[in-house]
Amino acid sequence: MPLERRLTTPVLTVEQRARVMDLIDNGHTIQVTNDVPMALDVGDEHFELVQYHFHAPSEHTFEGRHAPLEVHFVHKSAAGRLAVLGVMVEEGEHMPLLDVILDALPEHPGETRRLENLDLDMTELRPLPDEYFAYEGSLTTPPCSEGVLWIVMGETREISPEQMAELTSHLHDNYRPVQPLGDRELYLVSR
Ligand SMILES: [Zn+2]
Repeated sequence: MPLERRLTTPVLTVEQRARVMDLIDNGHTIQVTNDVPMALDVGDEHFELVQYHFHAPSEHTFEGRHAPLEVHFVHKSAAGRLAVLGVMVEEGEHMPLLDVILDALPEHPGETRRLENLDLDMTELRPLPDEYFAYEGSLTTPPCSEGVLWIVMGETREISPEQMAELTSHLHDNYRPVQPLGDRELYLVSR
């Protein structure tokens, strides 16, 4: 089905709550997995969250400008297709949800920490899809697989300068240079 058709139905994120999180410092980024399969529906294609992680600076640019941070929510469909939802993060207001993650970060690369008995509303970090950009692309880390549906939210998020400094101190050289759009179509969807 062509992308254009699929995206005539707005993306709906159904599940926004987290109860258990595993935090992994893999030496390049902080990666988080939740117990609840936070869903993403794109038209009639159903994806569930596998993990999310952070890049500094952002991998996407708006009018040539990087944001200091970008979050990637990586989803997979039952057929194995990937959909990555990107959220740009700027310095500004303090984000209480991020403190939960920062307070529990592993001390050393290669370590995992598990948080249980949480009841978190992820909406603070993961906006509802009122406006977004979408295109077909590839993964930004090896194996850079093609055929990935990218969705970049128009709505940005803010964290405090102190939160930004602490989080980015755990992120090392983990952004891929911007790739040319080439003959790919870029869609802007708003409702
Ligand atoms: Zn990523």
